[in-house]
Amino acid sequence: MKAFWSATQLAHAPQFFLQRGVVRKNFEVPARAESLLAACEALKLDLVVPPPAERAALEAVHTAAYLDFLRDAPADWAALPEHGPEIVANIHPSPDMFANGAKVPESVIGRAGWFTLDTACPVAPETWGSALAAAEGALAAADEAAAGRSAYALARPPGHHAYAARAGGHCYLNNAALAAERLRAKGAARVAVLDIDAHHGNGTQGIFWQRDDVMFVSVHGDPSHYYPWFVGHAGERGAGAGEGFSRNFPLARGTADDGWLAAVADGVAAIEAFGAEALVISVGFDASKDEPLGFLAVTEDGFARAGAAIGGMRLPTVLVQEGGYNVALLGTLLTRFLEGFAP
Ligand SMILES: [Zn+2]
Repeated sequence: MKAFWSATQLAHAPQFFLQRGVVRKNFEVPARAESLLAACEALKLDLVVPPPAERAALEAVHTAAYLDFLRDAPADWAALPEHGPEIVANIHPSPDMFANGAKVPESVIGRAGWFTLDTACPVAPETWGSALAAAEGALAAADEAAAGRSAYALARPPGHHAYAARAGGHCYLNNAALAAERLRAKGAARVAVLDIDAHHGNGTQGIFWQRDDVMFVSVHGDPSHYYPWFVGHAGERGAGAGEGFSRNFPLARGTADDGWLAAVADGVAAIEAFGAEALVISVGFDASKDEPLGFLAVTEDGFARAGAAIGGMRLPTVLVQEGGYNVALLGTLLTRFLEGFAP
């Protein structure tokens, strides 16, 4: 199986992270990728640097203005007096402001608030290149799947919290959504995205909310007590043509293998009923019982069994890396998942 990866993805090294009012070191570190890369090498996956993406492939998911912001804003930020090393917004437009006609401002300070969801997605000069390379890996993996061969995208930074025009939660470009759109463009009539990261894939859900050709299924920690806090509830099922094509399986704190795998099985059943022709898996490993900011309690065996349940669908599959922040364990969890996926 091919695994798409570029060393460019190591350049992005976010520092800022705000937790319970405390500024601490960011968890989304380059060493995560090195741990996953070592596992790919040990598994003898065929490591491939993806080709450059065409702008149109990115604009199938993201707005032009947002892509320009990620690429160009660091230079504008660097021209500010007494600026920090990374763009971190200190104000976001609220629904009240949108109701009153809120507009994108010219200042990079305001644009930072407009194009980000939270403080967990600092933008530095290196961010664009790394996020773009991760997205290119997801697109290349989708090209493989379109040809009938499952593939892994070692996507770092991750993507599932990014909306069409907003970064958030360590995510900038939505790699899973880009892969799903590429599969659609290459002829799959129905594509399903199954997100098993511990956090709800709010960005992916937002992108496909009104779509009936891409089903979005997420298994995650209950947002009443866990990021992204506001969405990911069981009652969210899409709208308009997309009504019924978003499915959410929020789980209580401490849910272990049996409960988590039952939800994964429910997600698999929904995807099979939908009749998906191709699959995108947002593979996060932060449901692990050993996760530093943990909420769920999945074991290594649990990830292997999830891999087997997903592989059992026998569909061309793009495996897109999402979260998982226990650097020492990440490679093992990927190994176990892939062994289950294709034993
Ligand atoms: Zn996560």
